[in-house]
Amino acid sequence: ARLANQIAAGEVVERPASVVKELVENSLDAGATKIEIDIDKGGSRTIRIRDNGQGIPKDELELALSRHATSKISTLDDLEAIASLGFRGEALASISSVSRLTLTSRTESQPEAWSAYAEGRDMQVQLKPAAHPVGTTLEVLDLFFNTPARRKFLRTEKTEFAHIDELLKRIALSRFDVSILLRHNGKLIRQYRASETQAQKERRLAAVCGQGFLQHAVSLELGHGDLRLSGWICTPQGARAQNDLQYCYVNGRMMKDKLINHAIRQAFEGALAPEQYAAYVLFIEVDPHQVDVNVHPAKHEVRFHHARLVHDFIYQGVQSALQQTVV
Ligand code: ADP
Ligand code: MG
Repeated sequence: ARLANQIAAGEVVERPASVVKELVENSLDAGATKIEIDIDKGGSRTIRIRDNGQGIPKDELELALSRHATSKISTLDDLEAIASLGFRGEALASISSVSRLTLTSRTESQPEAWSAYAEGRDMQVQLKPAAHPVGTTLEVLDLFFNTPARRKFLRTEKTEFAHIDELLKRIALSRFDVSILLRHNGKLIRQYRASETQAQKERRLAAVCGQGFLQHAVSLELGHGDLRLSGWICTPQGARAQNDLQYCYVNGRMMKDKLINHAIRQAFEGALAPEQYAAYVLFIEVDPHQVDVNVHPAKHEVRFHHARLVHDFIYQGVQSALQQTVV
């Protein structure tokens, strides 16, 4: 039951994909325009993320890893708990407590790179000189090696990798300007090139959502006061029998929000056959003062101050875009 509660808690070091999420978000925070992700064995053996961001100065490497008070981690039981505490600003510390983690980094102003290594609960950090261009590489080996309950909970290599792949699709759609490369067991799986022009963006859209989606997609772009709605929706002709192509972002963050989903579903209503699902990639921009994003700990839900207005704006935007396609 404890495990079930921890998983229900949402924001946890639940699986390799949650590690990848935290590390890629750190790379984006560091201003990276290029991120390379290497995964072995679905992430249970290796998760390696290399970026060209601003890097971490030598004297901050240890700090980046050891934000958790190590004294708190005294028994194996606690360790299992740490794995599920949720990162909340302590991602690297949490990850390093359940893996063998190496952080290698170089900043613009440093002539050489440095490497910091931390393993499990003994978070004695060792620093060594290393070779690395400006940017950061994080290598996470043997995830959950010291938390057998968590390790046992991992699914097959294929399933864990699928979670990582899906996560990176969501990120790829939120940051068209960043190039993202994904390998699994040494094999190149995805290459999302940085894109600026509409044509380049549509190439990425096709890489993420498939050529079929692009073929039937209409783009939309509209505004109303502080609100903006843009992206692509799939016409009813191209609609699918799978519920796996619904991407929605609010101010650049992926959301699974009831109000938004409702507005979109309502707009599609009647246009789709009963076995068809709406497919879309939509970006909503709203004045940050008009929205709270911390409603749900995993931050997938939002609360708009003017919920009705946002709902109707999305509804009307999607509906009129759909109507234009039915000529
Ligand atoms: P948070 O991101 O909430 O600050 P983390 O544990 O994820 O906490 O990261 C700790 C710190 O390590 C970050 O604040 C940042 O200074 C540094 N850091 C982590 N990853 C990177 C990276 N890829 N590039 C530059 N700095 C990083
Ligand atoms: Mg972070």
